[in-house]
Amino acid sequence: MPLHIMSEAERCYQCKKPKCQEGCPVHTPIPEIIKLFREHNLMKAGEILFRNNPLSVICSEVCNHAKQCAGNCIRGKKDSPVHFSSIENYISEMYLDRMQVKIPELKHDKRVAVIGAGPAGLTVAVLLALEGYPVTIFEWKSKIGGLLQYGIPEFRLPKSVLERFEARLTEMGIQIRLNATIGTVLMIDNLFRDDYKAIFIGTGAEKPRSLGIKGESFGNVHFALNYLANPKAHHLGNKVAVIGVGNAAMDVARTALRNGTKEVVLYAMGKEIAASSSEVAYAKLDGAEIETGMQIQEITERGPVFKRTIYDENDKIIGTEDELIQTEADSTIIAISQVPRGKLVRTTSGLTAAENGLLIVDENYMTTREGVFAAGDVITGAKTVVHAVEGAKQAALSMINYMNNN
Ligand SMILES: Cc1cc2nc3c(=O)[nH]c(=O)nc-3n(C[C@H](O)[C@H](O)[C@H](O)COP(=O)(O)OP(=O)(O)OC[C@H]3O[C@@H](n4cnc5c(N)ncnc54)[C@H](O)[C@@H]3O)c2cc1C
Ligand code: SF4
Repeated sequence: MPLHIMSEAERCYQCKKPKCQEGCPVHTPIPEIIKLFREHNLMKAGEILFRNNPLSVICSEVCNHAKQCAGNCIRGKKDSPVHFSSIENYISEMYLDRMQVKIPELKHDKRVAVIGAGPAGLTVAVLLALEGYPVTIFEWKSKIGGLLQYGIPEFRLPKSVLERFEARLTEMGIQIRLNATIGTVLMIDNLFRDDYKAIFIGTGAEKPRSLGIKGESFGNVHFALNYLANPKAHHLGNKVAVIGVGNAAMDVARTALRNGTKEVVLYAMGKEIAASSSEVAYAKLDGAEIETGMQIQEITERGPVFKRTIYDENDKIIGTEDELIQTEADSTIIAISQVPRGKLVRTTSGLTAAENGLLIVDENYMTTREGVFAAGDVITGAKTVVHAVEGAKQAALSMINYMNNN
């Protein structure tokens, strides 16, 4: 066992009111896990982590720990916080290969359909399978994971973890139909026809938002998610401009620099950087530059054209200077977030969405159609893995309640 993880665990005070746990969106019982870890009871710790958050192994890699567990740890007030994520990662990595889950007798008359195999769908599938519900996942793409597979780059999240995860799902009896889109040939009505008693929609927000300016359709302009889904298929050239400064923009910059691009400049409209401080630090370490106060006007084949931002005394944006600034870039990548693509599911099944395309759910995560539930990015807009898990946990409970009463 790596000694530094054990010494990290020894640093925990085992607080009675653990701030770390409060700061975690899924309230991982951190002191209890650390105690089990110190006692070398890794299987028990792994089981608790998995049942509380089936994506624990992923969250230990990609969560914004500095804002959540570590960011709230009491030890961080005077010296460095306990880095629980390394302990969680060690346990959950090990548990993923060794777990032997006992599934209760199947409730054959209560079949559940899960649409979308991203973090939200995977969470619901696991939690319901653990309760004995027969679960079938319908996934549009050829691999599970959603944005874990097609968004977050390999160097931050090795995709092999998703293959190992998929093997465990199969062992749990979860059926996975890949390359199966709900809303084209199969509709939600067909699922109800085929005796699914509850349906979960976790179709995410994967449609790139466009800038709505001239030049977006040029051959050397791409959207972040299209690029990240298959970076090797793109030939970006030596100099790349990235419009946007969120986490996805940082991933684009770091991926481009790892694939031969020599220079990457990320452009922000104002002074604020949306990405987490650690992602910004890594992007800079890899060689990316960030230029703030640049408002995009259009994209030419030479590169993006900006006007400089004007601020008031409180740094609020109040306009732009008149001068147009033509920058030079071999390729431009637009990384200004995503919206749901869910129209297919929505329009073919009579679900109501807000104007921005997000599915509307009630306090029980039920959509406007009875028996159809939703969580994750498709109801919140682009957020994070742990927030998708959090919503999916609530939705899974509501689905169980619903099936018990119907
Ligand atoms: C580049 C990038 C980096 C990110 N980095 C981080 C990070 O470091 N940490 C973090 O916590 N979060 C990160 N996120 C956000 C995180 O990945 C998402 O919040 C999370 O994946 C949302 O989960 P979800 O299950 O709601 O949706 P998704 O992950 O989008 O999954 C939705 C799934 O549904 C499928 N689907 C869609 N429509 C249909 C249909 N009609 N029929 C069948 N299947 C369908 C899709 O193919 C997809 O597999 C990042 C996002 C991006 C884009
Ligand atoms: S706040 Fe820090 S010291 Fe206290 S229980 Fe959590 S990890 Fe341990």
